[in-house]
Amino acid sequence: MDPKAPITQDVMTIPRKPPEGDKRNLVGMTRDQMRDALIQMGTPEKQAKMRTGQIWQWIYQWGKRDFADMTNLAKAYRAQLDEHFVIEIPEVVTRQVSEDGTRKYLCRIAGGHEVEVVYIPEEGRGTLCISSQVGCTLTCSFCHTGTQKLVRNLTAAEIIGQVMMARDDLDEWPVPGAPKDETRLLSNIVLMGMGEPLYNFDNVRDAMKIAMDAEGIQLSRRRITLSTSGVVPEIARTAQEIGCLLAISFHATTDETRDVLVPINRKHNIEELLSALAAYPKASNSERITFEYVMLAGVNDSDEDAHRLIDHIKRHNIPAKINLIPFNEWPGAPYKRSSNNRIRAFANIIYQAGYASPIRKTRGEDIMAACGQLKSETERARKSRRQIEAEAGITR
Ligand code: SAH
Ligand code: SF4
Repeated sequence: MDPKAPITQDVMTIPRKPPEGDKRNLVGMTRDQMRDALIQMGTPEKQAKMRTGQIWQWIYQWGKRDFADMTNLAKAYRAQLDEHFVIEIPEVVTRQVSEDGTRKYLCRIAGGHEVEVVYIPEEGRGTLCISSQVGCTLTCSFCHTGTQKLVRNLTAAEIIGQVMMARDDLDEWPVPGAPKDETRLLSNIVLMGMGEPLYNFDNVRDAMKIAMDAEGIQLSRRRITLSTSGVVPEIARTAQEIGCLLAISFHATTDETRDVLVPINRKHNIEELLSALAAYPKASNSERITFEYVMLAGVNDSDEDAHRLIDHIKRHNIPAKINLIPFNEWPGAPYKRSSNNRIRAFANIIYQAGYASPIRKTRGEDIMAACGQLKSETERARKSRRQIEAEAGITR
């Protein structure tokens, strides 16, 4: 550089371009976070809210992943966005389709980890079962995921990204100008995949807020169900900050049995849990709580269990529906599924007491997509290889 050259105000014009690979993902940001990120990039504060609204709609309403498609933004601004940001969702590694139409996706997320996502088509609706963690810290003895250690929490981007991935696969992004189709292939979300959603509260909340946003995917909070094993301290927050429907993995009617099946019960026992559940419908302005009850032969499926279950619910005056889940077996599982007759008898006692007691139809069993069967094979393979290497004294 010529030392005599006049000093110009170069500082102002040097593009603050992050190095390649350091681009931030816009997916998963709350509206406020996106606004801040745009300001940091140099968007004037006065415009930032409007720009956020525009970009938000492109991403979540129209499903666009390329800034070049955002035609209501100036070309130079689109180029600037492209230099600073990406719009990224988990990558689909495999997709299996069951005889009954259930689809199971294996998705790759950062770090080479994998999560499973299941789409269940039904008459006039379709439910996407999404994951909140890779693995789980809890060790429910009947759950396949529970045999896999927690690898990590998913980010908000990875959680909402599962919904976006499924919409891609179902080809369900609306086309601007086309008439609105009211019957949606993906009409419901259940947080019933891998992991305990209330142990990843903030990311689950932010992702579900995005799913509910009126200028995006637009799913009503009544079409989102969060299932928890009973993380009592977070139940009130779920009502206040998410407001979706709640399902509880109840599974046993005495503390003695629940301590074994759902070990978090040793921390928060049945009474404590029921009190938190009783407060939920009012706090979230929602209807019934779904009690999930997996039917394990000779463990939790007696007539006495059915009566005790009703007692618990009545004593706490909880508006409830009881979803009976035939146990889905997995290799090495220490339990057997209750017989159909036993399940029907159990359901009948509950029904006679005045509660809905649907028996969950097993879906996608042929592709190991049913409840509690999710666990990425590759994750397990990777883990055992690491274990073998550790035993052999190999360090990397
Ligand atoms: N961690 C959360 C959500 C994921 S589990 C929770 O425990 O609620 C989703 C549902 O599948 C839970 O009700 C869980 O108890 C149930 N489940 C787990 N393993 C199962 C199996 N092998 N057969 C049937 N249901 C199972
Ligand atoms: Fe985790 Fe839920 Fe499985 Fe329990 S049932 S191990 S909380 S995923």
